[in-house]
Parts: sequence; C-alpha cells; structure tokens
Amino acid sequence: MTIPDRLNSIRESITETAIDCGRDPSAIKLVAVSKRHSIASIGEAIKAGQHLFGENYIQEAAEKRKQIDSSAEFHFIGHVQTNKAKLAAELFTMIETVDRYKLAKVLNTQLEKLERNLNILIQVNIGRDEKKSGVEPEKAKELLEQIKPLSRLRPLGLMTIPPFTKNTEEVRNYFKKLYCLGKDLAKQKLFVDNMNIELSMGMSHDFKIAIEEGATIIRVGTAIFGARNDKT
Ligand SMILES: *Cc1c(COP(=O)(O)O)cnc(C)c1O
Repeated sequence: MTIPDRLNSIRESITETAIDCGRDPSAIKLVAVSKRHSIASIGEAIKAGQHLFGENYIQEAAEKRKQIDSSAEFHFIGHVQTNKAKLAAELFTMIETVDRYKLAKVLNTQLEKLERNLNILIQVNIGRDEKKSGVEPEKAKELLEQIKPLSRLRPLGLMTIPPFTKNTEEVRNYFKKLYCLGKDLAKQKLFVDNMNIELSMGMSHDFKIAIEEGATIIRVGTAIFGARNDKT
C-alpha cells in the first residue's frame, strides 16, 4: 500500500471507531510520526492532506523543517534534553513530552527570548515503567502547579507511552488511567482549557483502543510510513 492509501485507511478507521463509541471524529487529531522517515515520504503524506507530523529527534526535525513546506506542523514526541531546549522552542507547535520542571523552566526562558508561546503536554509514566520517561502519575499535579507561573507555556493536557504489551485489556487500562488523571487535574484547573483537555495516547497497534478511551491525539508512525530503518 502507498502512503496515501494507508493514510486514508487510518482516517476511515478513526472515523469508524469514534462514531462507534459516540465521539465526534473531528475531535481526534492524527499525528503522523515521521521519525527516521525521508523528506520524500513526508511530502507524499502532505500531498495526501496530512499536515501534522511527530518527530523524536530535535536535530533530525531541524533538518527536515528546513526542507518541508512551512504549512506542515510538527509536534515533538521524544525526550527533550535541556541543552536542546532552544531549538525545541523554535521548531515545534507542541512539545508533548514535558516531564520535569527544569525542562519547563529552560523552555520558558527560550520562549521569552523568541516572544513566543508554546503548547505543551505533560508526559506521564502511567505504567511506572523504569525504562520510560514521564512524570509519575502522583507527581503530575505538582509539576503542573510549578508550570503555572511560566507564562509562555500553555499546558493543554497529558501524553503517555504505556509499557509495551500485546494484552489489549492491559493497554486499555493504562489509557483509562490517563483519562482519569486528566479529568482529575482538569477539575483542579491546572490546564489552559479545563473543559477540553488533550490526551495524547495510542500508536499504530492500539490507536483504536485509545480513541475508545478518550484520546484526542493519536501518534501513528509504522501504519502510515511502514517500518523504520531503526538504528542499531
Ligand atoms: C515512534 C513513536 C510513535 C509511533 O509508533 P508506531 O508504532 O510506529 O505507530 C508514537 N509515539 C511515540 C512517542 C513514538 O516514539
């Protein structure tokens, strides 16, 4: 299948899943995860109407940004090293992976200089997986309180990468947990728009479950672009 064919089939699947569970399909944003895929592949996706992309590596994203239509929008979904915060503040319309105060503070300082505001999500380590980044669920509140005075950052919601498992009920459980945590934090007015918070969860293999559990952003790579040339 070509990239446009795959994109169409994913869009159909998003619409179908949303309608089946009584949600508005337009409330779900598809981030096409283009990490380690070529400019040509991104170009094909843009031609097929996709304008939102996700990248994991700041340097790679910076190179791509130079060569890609400026109408395309990039979310950062990888680990942000504090020393890359300046580039990160310039390149992305959203950073989905803010997980510590030090990073938030450095980002805010860079954004001040750029006179720019930036949408962010708090990455939560919902499965308490030692190998994954993200703030522990019970510390998300404290982090959001610390971020409040950082006026250039706009916290819109939460993001998670659950521990890998083929057990769909287990995955569903992690998504439910993120949903509940988001609701709880919204009740405490910790986001910019507490009536409509963003939940970024679900990838190629589990985005339907994520939609059923309230995802507003899904991050799909392999199912659109095919297998990555993973570095060894
Ligand atoms: C790579 C990546 C994805 C996409 O994963 P696929 O399984 O290829 O869909 C989504 N989210 C994050 C954070 C990623 O690093």
